This record gives sequence, C-alpha cells and structure tokens, in this order.
Amino acid sequence: MVIAGPSGAGKSTIVRRLLAHRPFRFSVSVTTRAPRPGEVDGVHYHFVTVEEFRAMVDHSELLEWAEYGTSLYGTPLGPVLDVLEGGEDMLLEIEVQGAALVREVYPEALMIFVRAPSLTELARRLRERGDTTDEAIERRLEIARHELAIADALFDYVVVNEDLDATLAQVLDILDVRRRRPQRST
Ligand code: 5GP
Repeated sequence: MVIAGPSGAGKSTIVRRLLAHRPFRFSVSVTTRAPRPGEVDGVHYHFVTVEEFRAMVDHSELLEWAEYGTSLYGTPLGPVLDVLEGGEDMLLEIEVQGAALVREVYPEALMIFVRAPSLTELARRLRERGDTTDEAIERRLEIARHELAIADALFDYVVVNEDLDATLAQVLDILDVRRRRPQRST
C-alpha cells in the first residue's frame, strides 16, 4: 500500500496511527537529506550520502526513487520483496513521482493520496512545523501544486485530511472495503 501526498498534509501522522491499527510493515526509505530533530537513522529513514544513494541506484537496490526539493529519496527493494514474499503487507510513504513508479511495478497496489483542505492550510502547517526555511516551504508548496494536479488520475483514493481521527477512520474504511474484494488483495 502506498500513501502519498504533499509535505505537510499529515501523511506521517496518519501512517503512524495506521501502523498502530493494522499489521503493515513500514518501508524505511533512504534519503540524502539531513535528519530532523528526533529522527532516528534506520527508523524514520536510512540517512545516506549522495554517493551511497547513487551506488544503490546503480546496483538496482531501489524499487523507486525520486528527487524531491534538493534531496534524493528511495525505497529499498530487498525489504519490500521479503515482506511480500512472507505474505505480509508493506506500507510505503512516498511522494508522487515514486508512487507512479510503484504503480507500474505493482499495478494492484492500493494507493491513497492524502491532501490538506487547501494550499493555504498546507502553507500554514508547513510554517507551523518550524523546521524548514521559507525557501524550502515555497519549494514544497510548488511541488504540492504539481502533485495535486495529477493525484486524481494516479491514486485509487484522495483523502482530505481536515481532522486526523476522521481521516484515519476513512483510511481504515478503505482498507476494509479492499479486503472484501479478494481479486485486489494486495
Ligand atoms: P520529508 O523530507 O518531509 O521526510 O519527505 C519529503 C517527501 O519525500 C515526502 O513527500 C515523502 O513522502 C517523500 N518520500 C519519503 N521517502 C520516499 C521514498 O522512498 N521515495 C519517494 N519517491 N519519496 C519519498
């Protein structure tokens, strides 16, 4: 299952809550960006250098990868294969270009796009987070505009995250509906 959506839409919180409710295995991405306060290497991300990242790309070790802002992000392939082979479900929290690549490899994957009620609200949430510069926020808003434009066509569901509890309930409903349809059980 893939959860995507603009930075600041509330994806990470929803993912955290979802993991407490459903037995998904979380895919820990590799990234070249610096850790934010509180982020732990190997838990939130594997933090790597650009050279290390490039080597993973060259060795086909990533299921997908994308440049986002000024950093690189990718999903390590090995853990995804291991988890799926073990009959478990994997949860990927990634941006839209990467989600499009996952769609090509796993057409049956459930893909949910989480968005904020508006771009104004998204900007407010990004500023409130207080860990990014104005320039980085502007860049993230620009990417968000682009992501919103293509979300409808690419994702199975677009969920507006106005209230966290309601959004989580909506995602759990989607999963329940999905489970009752055995032909698309991934
Ligand atoms: P952040 O820097 O805020 O943690 O993440 C920036 C963006 O990169 C978010 O939209 C996040 O979902 C996305 N992202 C995180 N990991 C991956 C990944 O492995 N692949 C892709 N394509 N995007 C990712």
